[in-house]
Amino acid sequence: MPSFPQYLTAEQEIELHRIAKAIVAPGKGILAADESTGTMGKRFAPIGVENSEENRRRYRELLFSADKSVAENISGVILFHETFYQSTKEGIPFVKVLKDKGIIPGIKVDKGVVPLAGTDGESTTQGLDGMSERCAQYKKDGADFAKWRCVLKIGSHTPSYQAMLENANVLARYASICQQNGLVPIVEPEVLCDGDHDLETAQKVTEQVLAFTYKALADHHVFLEGTLLKPNMVTAGQSCTKKYTAEQNGKATVLALSRGVPAAVPGITFLSGGQSEEDSTLNLNAINLCPGPKPWALSFSFGRALQASVLKAWQGKDENLKAAQEQLLTRAKANGLAAVGKYQGGGAGKASGESLFVADHRY
Ligand code: 13P
Repeated sequence: MPSFPQYLTAEQEIELHRIAKAIVAPGKGILAADESTGTMGKRFAPIGVENSEENRRRYRELLFSADKSVAENISGVILFHETFYQSTKEGIPFVKVLKDKGIIPGIKVDKGVVPLAGTDGESTTQGLDGMSERCAQYKKDGADFAKWRCVLKIGSHTPSYQAMLENANVLARYASICQQNGLVPIVEPEVLCDGDHDLETAQKVTEQVLAFTYKALADHHVFLEGTLLKPNMVTAGQSCTKKYTAEQNGKATVLALSRGVPAAVPGITFLSGGQSEEDSTLNLNAINLCPGPKPWALSFSFGRALQASVLKAWQGKDENLKAAQEQLLTRAKANGLAAVGKYQGGGAGKASGESLFVADHRY
């Protein structure tokens, strides 16, 4: 018999499973607020806010100091390194503000998408060097989960075998390092919605990508009960001329997941991927209402689809703070309902119908 000296202890497994389950408790999901400095610039530009460290701090304070009822629907927040060590105007660390509300702080640990040579414009994600030490420090400083985003593109010859294999492997290495340091890894293999492919193509590609991902996680002995998956919802390409209903998207998504995600995974927290706020919520609701085997919690980890209305209401002005926070509460409630298949509309915010698509999106 081989021995596996670096396996997790029983205590480590219990802790990781507990955190993962708490994040996907019924009616709860994640606010992804881990935009890099460059991405924040793109979010601020349309509302005319300068991308300074102080404005980023002010904006994140707005999000994290929303009424405590937000924690009824937001179980975790993903932070960028800069934000993780920032504080409110009064000097209270953001990590403490979140924890005091019962919200679990998470941290983005990848260092961004880089080109994968020898492919047709495909990528991998970097950041493994020194990651174990960084994870140990984040855990000590209050993080309980982490995120790492990989990107795959649908084209006539993509995603390639090389890209699927490489991205799956780097996600597995990341997940293993996180778990050794007490952080629940959110495994994010995002199949972009760029392109004119139909729903069936998106489903097939998502199934393939998930198969590569879970083979690599098994190869690296990742403890699945202590992980969460953050996939794209299965939808047709952004410029596909054929339109599909939320029910069709929900069915394609559940089918792809049921074929590729082991039942041991406690939860799936979808990214919004450029869908409008309302479409993201309606699709999540349809996913939860879809009949068929669904052994995992199906919830959200939205960035754009939880923040577009907030930014629009805020406009960088202190006098708009309360109104902007109201938008966050509304969107969080709508998605909390969708996460249990009970959203019946009425959660529209200021930007609800607007497409949030960004070509070749970077985080
Ligand atoms: P969107 O919901 O804006 O796609 O972002 C979520 C995320 O965290 C991507 O890594």
